[in-house]
Amino acid sequence: MANTDNSSLERYSIITEKNPREITLLRGNGCKWLKCRFCNYHLDRCLDEEQNFILNKEVLDKVSGIYAKLEVINSGSFVDLDAKTMNYIITKCVEKNISEIHFECHYMHKDKVADLRKLFAGNGIDVKIKIGVETFDSLFREAYLVKGIDTDSPVEIAKYFDEVCLLQGIPGQTSESMINDIETGLKYFERVCVNIMVDNGMPIRPDPRVIKNFIENVYPLYINNNRVDILLNNTDFGVG
Ligand code: SF4
Repeated sequence: MANTDNSSLERYSIITEKNPREITLLRGNGCKWLKCRFCNYHLDRCLDEEQNFILNKEVLDKVSGIYAKLEVINSGSFVDLDAKTMNYIITKCVEKNISEIHFECHYMHKDKVADLRKLFAGNGIDVKIKIGVETFDSLFREAYLVKGIDTDSPVEIAKYFDEVCLLQGIPGQTSESMINDIETGLKYFERVCVNIMVDNGMPIRPDPRVIKNFIENVYPLYINNNRVDILLNNTDFGVG
């Protein structure tokens, strides 16, 4: 997808269940980490910032403000978005009375989060930052997934981030480890988003036995939990 035709991607959707919000998949100049062994999302990037802005503006123009909440994802971190896109997001939020906005961010950019919160707070908008932690088992996360989070402390991560994404359904996980990760997420963060691994041709593949364990033993525990989003397929939010 990098710098090629990614017109087939759905870039706007409305999430009506659990924390209802609009969601947009924008395009930035690309993830700066790029090492996660399960990831091909970062392929949706383009170095031409003017082209990114044209595409992003078209997507943002679909935002209606129906729930006064907007989630902006961009296959990387908010820092990858160009300045014109960021200004246009603020303009749209003000115009559509959006009071809460969610962005995603890698741990390497944690020191940029405070300024982003200030920028939006100045416009009366509350910022929520989501981080892909994938698992709180730091040895598994760093040696196997190569996630690039250099702390094993959820408390430290929660100093900067409000919400966590977890990756489940991969080799080595058990029902117990998956529940443990979700419970840690719920303890230290406002919301948890569980992504079930889908085969995307990357070195880390889904494990059908682990997914079966998830469906039978984990899913029923959280299906009605309003603080837990569960994506059995990575397009379940309607974008991607
Ligand atoms: S930080 Fe995110 S976008 Fe970048 S490689 Fe990892 S999962 Fe992919």
